[in-house]
Amino acid sequence: MRVLLLGGTTEASAMALRLSQTRIDTIFSYAGRTRAPAPQPLPTRIGGFGGGQGLATYLNAEAITHVIDATHPFAAGMSRNAVAACAQTGTSLIRLERAPWMAQAGDNWTMVDRVEDMPDALPDTPARVFLAIGKQQIGLFSVKPQHHYVLRLVDAPDAALPLPHATVVLARGPFTAGGDAALMLEHRITHVLAKNAGGTAAQAKLEAARALRLPVILAARPALPGATLDSVEAVMVWLGHSALRGV
Ligand code: NAP
Repeated sequence: MRVLLLGGTTEASAMALRLSQTRIDTIFSYAGRTRAPAPQPLPTRIGGFGGGQGLATYLNAEAITHVIDATHPFAAGMSRNAVAACAQTGTSLIRLERAPWMAQAGDNWTMVDRVEDMPDALPDTPARVFLAIGKQQIGLFSVKPQHHYVLRLVDAPDAALPLPHATVVLARGPFTAGGDAALMLEHRITHVLAKNAGGTAAQAKLEAARALRLPVILAARPALPGATLDSVEAVMVWLGHSALRGV
């Protein structure tokens, strides 16, 4: 058995720790989006594979028998490539994905189908927006330049922001509800925007919004093909069953 673990999430790091403890031969893979990715207790490669075909070539070259896709629920391109490459090469594939967040009493959430739909859900009158959606899709909000955006990012932006009124807060999770509430009060936030990532590492902003009674605009996850499990232990069982079958 030789495993490729596609990472970039808290769950991927927990999976890496578990696999290293059981000494299962595993290569960890990062996209290379952040400048200093968290070190992993496994041999690690960084960078894209070159699409689905590139990944298929990699799987054959490295004699990978199992792929665990623990990328972010919104990293749809990588997940689709994994499905295609594993089908092409006959490699076993499982996605490790946490459950989405669900609204609770006291929440004022507006759900939109896609991140692209978020700007339309903002009011036209100037607002102060906590934008916690990563850096790749910030440009979508240039259609609503009247708002002040507070962007929480892992790394400082490489280029000028496409938003005339913006404050960048550099921080890496996990975050706390108290810390996020203090940040929202400091910046006089009126709206909180987030992707429905699920999990514990990034849920503090939703707890803070609930405590401060702020409206939240939440983008639903892209639909992805393939089998999914929601815990590290379930994936370990899946690996064990595959091994017993001699896969
Ligand atoms: P994406 O759109 O699905 O992927 C774009 C391309 O990045 C992929 O086609 C692949 O390049 C490369 N890639 C993605 N994940 C990779 C991995 N683990 N190892 C090697 N190459 C990878 O993904 P994304 O939304 O840009 O996210 C990039 C990374 O950041 C992912 O690993 C994800 O887990 C993490 N992340 C994403 C979000 C988010 O909101 N999207 C949030 C937190 C963390 P090639 O086609 O060249 O193989």
